[in-house]
Amino acid sequence: MLLNVENLSISFGRKKKLVEVIHDISFSVAENEIVGIVGESGSGKSVTSMAIMGLLPKKNTTIKGTIAFNETALLNLKDTTFQKLRGNEISMIFQEPMSALNPSLTCGFQVAEILKIHTKLSSQEIRKEVISLFEKVKLPRPNILYNSYPHQISGGQMQRVMIAMAIACKPKLLIADEPTTALDVTVQKEILQLLKELQKETEMSILFISHDLGLVSEICDKILVMYEGKIVEQGTKKEIFQSPKDNYTKALLASRP
Ligand code: ADP
Ligand code: MG
Repeated sequence: MLLNVENLSISFGRKKKLVEVIHDISFSVAENEIVGIVGESGSGKSVTSMAIMGLLPKKNTTIKGTIAFNETALLNLKDTTFQKLRGNEISMIFQEPMSALNPSLTCGFQVAEILKIHTKLSSQEIRKEVISLFEKVKLPRPNILYNSYPHQISGGQMQRVMIAMAIACKPKLLIADEPTTALDVTVQKEILQLLKELQKETEMSILFISHDLGLVSEICDKILVMYEGKIVEQGTKKEIFQSPKDNYTKALLASRP
């Protein structure tokens, strides 16, 4: 297994006012697999992904259980080791590409920075690599886009820049937390298609998080249903759609348009 989460519980706050938001969840992501987490807003999807990324606040956060990536236990890993892992082997894209991109730096520069930090490539090689990444994520006119600022491109294009950044170091796992929620429906489909294609090509695993069961079922091999901080059901797409066991899953299926 590439990622193994076992009996994970997460609480925020201090002793007397401790609030548990993730309750004893277990799941795994195999190599070359797309796993979906679906659940309504506030069900604990982002907290779970932040725990895997090691990005939860240290203060007043209590984590129990284990998270193993390629057999390395992630919780309690040294900050510097985690940083390397985060840049190279696990990466993430978010709902709002605008909030993750720096408005005062060009798109090309921002992707180049990642390669500068994590590779030994020369600046010429880096520029070439950024252009080829832009081609890979199907951005139009990569040479012009290299010098464009985030506000000069569309939301869908921004998300493509974020994806280029996320795959720059060829991660083994990509966590996509509501990557299409802020986008128009047609652009959503394109981004989904792109993620599918990139996954096939690179064989990276993807943990795809969304409140939208339709989207999740379009891209994922395995689906986890999350409700109020628990995984109430997990199974293949077929199992979830044809024989849902949990009442929340049944309600989710019934509420689809
Ligand atoms: P989702 O991504 O499924 O919409 P989240 O994982 O963001 O939900 O949030 C799950 C719950 O954890 C929510 O009730 C949220 O308010 C709470 N929560 C998230 N981060 C913190 C934090 N740093 N401190 C306290 N509560 C938090
Ligand atoms: Mg969220």
